[in-house]
Parts: sequence; C-alpha cells; structure tokens
Amino acid sequence: MTEQEIQRVLVVAAHPDDADIGCGGTMAKWARQGKEITYLICTRGDKGSSDPDMTSERLADIRTGEQRSAAATLGVREVRFLDGRDGELELTLELRKTMAEMVRRYRPDVIFTHDASVHMYDRGNLNHPDHRVVGTTVLDVVYPISRDALHYPEQLAQGLRPHEVHEVYLFMANQPNMAFDISSTIELKVEALRCHKSQFPDGEWVDTWMRQRCQEVGVVHAMAYAENFRHVITR
Ligand SMILES: [Zn+2]
Repeated sequence: MTEQEIQRVLVVAAHPDDADIGCGGTMAKWARQGKEITYLICTRGDKGSSDPDMTSERLADIRTGEQRSAAATLGVREVRFLDGRDGELELTLELRKTMAEMVRRYRPDVIFTHDASVHMYDRGNLNHPDHRVVGTTVLDVVYPISRDALHYPEQLAQGLRPHEVHEVYLFMANQPNMAFDISSTIELKVEALRCHKSQFPDGEWVDTWMRQRCQEVGVVHAMAYAENFRHVITR
C-alpha cells in the first residue's frame, strides 16, 4: 500500500508518550494530508514518576491530559485509553479480545505499534515489558484473529465485522527497514513531546534529544529528519 493510499491509521502504544516518540512526526504529516489517525493507549502510564509525593492516581490523570494535548498538537483525531495498569500488561486472551474489538471497530488500513523484541534499537537498549506485550498482541490480532469471523462471534453480533490489516509499522524497532521523511513536521513532533512534562520536565533537553535522534535517522536516508520503522507485511 502506498503512502497516498493509506486513509485510516491506528497507533497502538503501551504508555502516554510512546506514540509521539515513535511516530509523532509521521502522524502529524499524515494528519495534514487528511488521513484519519486514532491513538489507542493501553495504560495511563501510572508508574512513570520518581517523585516520592506522586500517587498513581494523580499521575494517571496528568499523563492522560499530556497525551491528549500532544495528540491535539499533531492533529490526531481521537485518543482512546484501555486502562491497563502501567508495568502490568500481560499476554492474556482478554487483551487479545479487546485488541480484536478495537481493530474491528476502527478498521485501519495500517497499524503502528511497538516492536516486541527484548532489545530496542541495535544499540541494545532493553525494551519495556509493556511494549513487548502490546507489540505481540497487535501482531497476533492482525494475523489472524481480527480477520477470521469465528473469533469472537459476539463482536460480529454487535456489528463489528472481521477486518484484515495487511501492513504494520513497528516503531522503536530493533531492526528498522524503512523510514518516513518528517522534515516538514519535526517542529510539531518536538512540540508534542514537550507536552509530556511529567516525563520530560526539561523541555530544552527533550527538544535537543528528539531533533538529534531524528537527524541521525534522516542522514541514513538522505532526509533532514526522519522516523524509522520495521515494516511488516502480514500476508
Ligand atoms: Zn512506553
């Protein structure tokens, strides 16, 4: 499927900020082109703080707001939260069923999600366990669960027809194999990242970090700024 042919996009991430780090520049560019983009965030990031006075409940509220602001900056049409607990996502049939429902409901042409590798990036950073669960669940659902009508017939009874997704893009990928040019939207990506103040209290730092990272990826592909992905064909 060419970039022009893509109309509906579902981005599935474990925590608030993952989607913006992983593919915010691409989503901002595509939103400008009129593509329909939905964020599905599986937890509210309720453990992501080193402040001894912070509570999970308050942090969840803060991070929900930060994610909504970031998504609005990029032009994402809808943000939906699944209310899993941060650090406690598991490969369960329940999560798989919920994911199948979401895929059948939003009917995306392509999905962006986590790489489920233990390592992310070839540099060897360890991948968060929630990222691995989300990445695995999404791939398990697109092939073959959401496609086959005999899975979760009760969803069909609710009017959610089977849906086939042929292409998935994995962000923060261990072995990326392509990139999208985000030179026209790097400013929006940085602005979106700055919305996550609980995670990046130093706005200047996140600004520099993100520009550098997207520049490093871009150099490889003869682009000023880029985001790279593992492009997975599911059939
Ligand atoms: Zn995360």
